[in-house]
Amino acid sequence: MSENHTLSIAVIGSGPAGYYAAEALSKASSDERPVEVDVIDQLPTPFGLIRAGVAPDHQSIKNVAKRYEKTAMQDNVRFLGNVSIGKDVQIEELMTIYDAVILAIGASASRKLNIDGADKQGVIGSAEFVGWYNSHPHHAELKPKLNIDSAVIIGNGNVAVDVCRILAKTTEEMAETDLAHYAGKTIHATPIETIWMFGRRGPMEAKFTPKELSELGELKQCVTITKPEQLPDDIPADTLPKEQGVKKKILGHLKEFSTPRPAKIQTLNIEFYASPVSVIGNERVEGIRMERTRVEDGRTLGTGHFFDVPCQLIIPCIGYRTVPIEGVPFDTDAGHFRNTDGHVRDNLYVTGWARRGPSGTIGTNRPDAQEVAARVIEEIKPKANNARQKIDDLLQKRHISHVSFRDWQKIDAAELAAAKYTAPREKFATIDTMLKTISEN
Ligand code: NAP
Repeated sequence: MSENHTLSIAVIGSGPAGYYAAEALSKASSDERPVEVDVIDQLPTPFGLIRAGVAPDHQSIKNVAKRYEKTAMQDNVRFLGNVSIGKDVQIEELMTIYDAVILAIGASASRKLNIDGADKQGVIGSAEFVGWYNSHPHHAELKPKLNIDSAVIIGNGNVAVDVCRILAKTTEEMAETDLAHYAGKTIHATPIETIWMFGRRGPMEAKFTPKELSELGELKQCVTITKPEQLPDDIPADTLPKEQGVKKKILGHLKEFSTPRPAKIQTLNIEFYASPVSVIGNERVEGIRMERTRVEDGRTLGTGHFFDVPCQLIIPCIGYRTVPIEGVPFDTDAGHFRNTDGHVRDNLYVTGWARRGPSGTIGTNRPDAQEVAARVIEEIKPKANNARQKIDDLLQKRHISHVSFRDWQKIDAAELAAAKYTAPREKFATIDTMLKTISEN
């Protein structure tokens, strides 16, 4: 395919942003202006956050992968898995080989909780914890200690809701999910009685969405509780019209949680106006000191009133950061690559969370990726570079055995076949198992 006039593009990262970019580029291909795309990922498995971030009990959300699969099967799209950019191949090399490179590597590192004692054992970032229960090969060995009675989740976003729900759901409630089997064994044996979810601002500033919040009211063995005195009678009068519906629903659910309901084995306390101050304990977490806050013009202000919450596990779910790549300008404060409307420098572009930070839904990445793909098509001229041959030669020279989409389909089939009882699949959690499956099938 790499004829003289073919535009060859590398997309780094095979999550939603990567495949939406690949889809837009693939569709822009014509006889007059052929385009070929190589989607490169460090893992042997595609789909990024769909596989390793979306909660295992939200299987219907994962169906979007079928759309990415369609793109992956196009003649002008290839998948090169198990190739780590910045390690196996440098970004400058890719920029020389391909006409353009689009970074779509997402934001896979936890934002750090910047308080005293946050390095104690038992403080686990959301990226690590979510990756652990989702069989991400980099986090499968996390082995969190869940033989405890109380856990604190920091943050009021959908990740905090996911983590609370996964900690609280029973074996039965998780039966039709692809929760990592080792995580299920640990979680479903935990004697945790109390889970706290702390938001530093108020209920109307919380970032979770109504549907996700409502699921916390449907847990079999856990009752979700809010404090009625922390809830306003109605949504604020100055709420933007487009946000009124969502805020009303959120307030409705929170009010429902504030009404007396029968106790269950576990209690999830959602508490607002509480900001983390320090982690208590010696080597391990024994508790967390919180400061009561008030909110002025949307901003958190401390009140000087402190309280301690005993707990043995703290999971800050306070957002994610992109992992920097050498040679790519990085905005340290924002936690993503520096760019101007998706352009980084020369023939290097960025899309998705790596461009704008971890916000929005999966679908938000589609217009973002389409915009960047359109820029690439408009701004970049083909160099007649025979890119695919060159990258294949380079990988071979470095003894990097890349995984094709066909190879991934072998892993996929083996995972589906290994599913136990009503689970949709049994995800492999090590790269060795994945590569062995490919070579044996
Ligand atoms: P998020 O929505 O940005 O929420 C982060 C939360 O952490 C906020 O409540 C924030 O409070 C709080 N926070 C930040 N820094 C803090 C600090 N130093 N101390 C205390 N609290 C702090 O992030 P996320 O939950 O990680 O989600 C990331 C994205 O993925 C979002 O777009 C989310 O909607 C999406 N997602 C969606 C789903 C779903 O649709 N089912 C599931 C998971 C994730 P402030 O507001 O005060 O900053």
